[in-house]
Amino acid sequence: MLPKYKRILLKLSGESLMGNKSFGLDPQIIAQYAVDIKQVVELGVQVAIVIGGGNIYRGMNEAETGIERAHGDYMGMLATVINGMALQAALEKVGVFTRLQSAIVMERIAEPYIRRRAIRHLEKGRVVIFGAGTGNPYFTTDTAGSLRAIEIKADVILKGTRVDGIYTADPELDPTALRYDKISFAEVINKNLKVMDMTAFTLCKENGLPIIVFDMNTPGTLLQVVEGMDVGTFVS
Ligand code: UDP
Repeated sequence: MLPKYKRILLKLSGESLMGNKSFGLDPQIIAQYAVDIKQVVELGVQVAIVIGGGNIYRGMNEAETGIERAHGDYMGMLATVINGMALQAALEKVGVFTRLQSAIVMERIAEPYIRRRAIRHLEKGRVVIFGAGTGNPYFTTDTAGSLRAIEIKADVILKGTRVDGIYTADPELDPTALRYDKISFAEVINKNLKVMDMTAFTLCKENGLPIIVFDMNTPGTLLQVVEGMDVGTFVS
């Protein structure tokens, strides 16, 4: 089957990497993600990835930690680099070529983020993992995902979560909640649905970058999304 998209930006949350644990990394989940990503690379799809850090550190709770927001945010960005390195190792183990690019210079372990270089890697079939978010405090990795997706001219941003799309209400709390197949940017705003934070969402909306929210934890779903099958929720 021919893929529907040529170049994708996959956004993975840090929390999803925990699997059933309450902190850190679940090697089984990461191995599954690596296999799923390999399947789409083998279809000829160019894959860039932005990964979160919430499984290790989130900078937002100044009241709780006593660490000021900006400082904590930098700690959060470092957490995303740890996750990026873990995913890189898992991908290479299954034979996928990768490059890790960091928004904060760490020359021993990652290339610096250079847009043109990232595009070149993608053209050569390497998976590019963007670590350290945007490199700036007061942002999220969702915003890093939208920003990088636009910069590299990705066809779509794929937000991999634990639920299989956007619902009328939180499906983990409300059993009558219904999933949207498709929804417009305006409707998401009017209905106050949680897809991404506003900064990230607005970037997508203003640049006409569609978002697909889908379940990354069911093996094979990423492939179905890339083949254009009717899974997840398509926002445009
Ligand atoms: N962060 C940041 N700037 C960025 C991206 C991330 O300051 O551009 C920090 C922020 O503290 C955030 C943490 O890194 O809480 C982890 O990222 P995020 O919460 O987006 O991860 P996820 O929710 O996807 O696990």
